Amino acid sequence: MLNEALTSIKGIGPTRAERFAALGLFTFSDLICFMPREYRDYSRVTNICDLKQDDYAVIRVTELGSPKTVRIPRSHLTVTTVSVSDGTGRLQATWYNQAYAAKNVPTANGGYVIGKFDKRRGMKLLQPAFASVIPGIQPIYPLVKGLNQSIIRNAVRIALNSCRDEITDELGESIRKEFSLMPKADALENAHFPQDAASLNAARRSIAFEDALLFTIMLAYIRSLRSREKGISFDVTGIKDEFLKLIPFALTNAQSRIIDEIACDMHSSAPMNRLIQGDVGSGKTVLALYAMYAAMKNGYQSALMAPTEILAQQHYKQLNSIFGEKAAIITGRQTKKQREELIGKIAEGKVTAVTGTHALIEGDVKFRNLGIVITDEQHRFGVHQRAKLGSKAATPDVMIMSATPIPRTLSLILYGDLDVSILNDMPPGRIPVNTKYVPQSKRIAMYRYIEKTVQEKAIQAYVVCPMIEDNEEMESVNSAEAVFDELSEMLSVRVALMHGRMKNAEKESTMEAFRRGEIDVLVSTTVIEVGVDVPNANIIAIESADRFGLAQLHQLRGRVGRGNMESYCFLLSDSDSKLVRDRLKTLTETNDGFKIAEKDLEIRGPGDFIGTRQHGEVSLGAALGADMNTLLEAHEAAERIMKEDTPDCRRLIDKAKQKYERSYKDIAIN
Ligand code: ADP
Ligand code: MG
Repeated sequence: MLNEALTSIKGIGPTRAERFAALGLFTFSDLICFMPREYRDYSRVTNICDLKQDDYAVIRVTELGSPKTVRIPRSHLTVTTVSVSDGTGRLQATWYNQAYAAKNVPTANGGYVIGKFDKRRGMKLLQPAFASVIPGIQPIYPLVKGLNQSIIRNAVRIALNSCRDEITDELGESIRKEFSLMPKADALENAHFPQDAASLNAARRSIAFEDALLFTIMLAYIRSLRSREKGISFDVTGIKDEFLKLIPFALTNAQSRIIDEIACDMHSSAPMNRLIQGDVGSGKTVLALYAMYAAMKNGYQSALMAPTEILAQQHYKQLNSIFGEKAAIITGRQTKKQREELIGKIAEGKVTAVTGTHALIEGDVKFRNLGIVITDEQHRFGVHQRAKLGSKAATPDVMIMSATPIPRTLSLILYGDLDVSILNDMPPGRIPVNTKYVPQSKRIAMYRYIEKTVQEKAIQAYVVCPMIEDNEEMESVNSAEAVFDELSEMLSVRVALMHGRMKNAEKESTMEAFRRGEIDVLVSTTVIEVGVDVPNANIIAIESADRFGLAQLHQLRGRVGRGNMESYCFLLSDSDSKLVRDRLKTLTETNDGFKIAEKDLEIRGPGDFIGTRQHGEVSLGAALGADMNTLLEAHEAAERIMKEDTPDCRRLIDKAKQKYERSYKDIAIN
């Protein structure tokens, strides 16, 4: 049954199956492994008089009104309400744009109603549901349009029931005992439909442990395969000194140290596989330039891959200053003739240092002797793309540069297949971004300030929102579309909108227009390009900043402060929680991305960071909700197992290969 298609579930036809497919769900097995993104605890009754803002509550219904639906004038909104009392107070169960919900309201008193309590807009219970018994802990799954929680829950229930006997324990008895893990079938049952909070925790831990263990084994295995490959041994004697004469500044200590590490890798006959992490502006490009220079001195070509055209152009300027005629850029915009000419030069080896976007990895580009491949802003490239470029040469050295600081302990786990260098200091003279916390009450004044500054100083501003469009479940969050509408009306400057659902070409042209100064205020989701340099953009305002991780906020803040003018980052939040405010204040106190990442790990756990290694490549899906201890335990267990080389170990390697099959094949050819 594990491979049974979802269409065999009653109520799932071809159309609905397509919605499931959009979530990556095709079979029963996919459903069973589809982890809830959170849980709502509906296992205890609360009195209305004791409710606190944003509580998810179960209310005993002793008195029930009859439902009413009203249409809000000049809006698309209908509001359906029914009055509920439990003897300690009264509230309005409230649905937005769900007039049909009125049909499901019971006609007699008794039973329960659940939902999210909101007292700010009157005593309301939002998106409520009636139930005859106390529902218990409910799973909340990631959704796409056309599906809702109850459709997914029912499907998962059916899949679990039909496959229970086929779920096997991969880890084996001894590991389960040693780390007190639940049997797999029990763990899955409780992760979807928890009996109580304790079994939910144990279940999530067990699943995350297995996931992290297999992940570590996989990466360690890939590393061991690579170390047996034969790469190029470059002669690096004296090259650093020569290179230093070509650049206009002295290296920072960290840059100098990492150049030595790169030199050591390049000299070694095993292929280099190094990840370099450094905050935005820490000076990663010069490291790439060094490696490309060393390759050239040894008669090899090099490729520097950038995630966007704009970044490739920025790189090309620098390549040009070092390699002159022997530098080249391949972009999607060149004419067929230009491209053919360039490709000819690359194939003949007349061009040495090449940069570009994904156009660089398209089939017809052939290098004469590619020695090193560097990808910038790594998290935009999946393993697949990197592998493709890697396959253009036998076993070139591979270097990856990332602007996402990740705490050391965690990057050893997430990037166990790579050597990791951390660029942890900044070039001198950088002016830190002024970062301010802005409460809801000062929001409008802030936008007026932005308007005035934009007009008076001719600078530009970003406004970042956590979501594209409004969503009733998160009423208090301002979406990009809503803020765009609001600001277009309110401000007398040029406002534009950019978000992830727009076509790539549209996004790039909006970004281009912003760069050229044709847009004053750019409202967007988090799609604004990492590494994009718009020196004239000196203000960034982040709506509902509490919705983002600190590391992500820090990343966003890195979009400004690239020129030599004073720059500002405004963190908006309407949260009245001290915890939230203290968390955001971390950013007002430090500019060090690694410190911020550590703090984020401490407060939010590893989930956000794990998410950064998820773009179409090896991912630690189920471990997203794991705590750091579980990850570390699993990591240690995996390393021990790999050393032992027992039947257990071989079985787990096979299992890991099977699980990460697609990624494994791609990585192995790299
Ligand atoms: P990122 O790590 O974000 O890619 P860049 O390599 O683009 O950073 O460097 C940011 C800026 O700092 C560039 O203008 C670069 O020329 C400059 N820079 C880099 N290293 C140094 C240094 N050691 N001293 C002075 N300026 C530097
Ligand atoms: Mg860069």
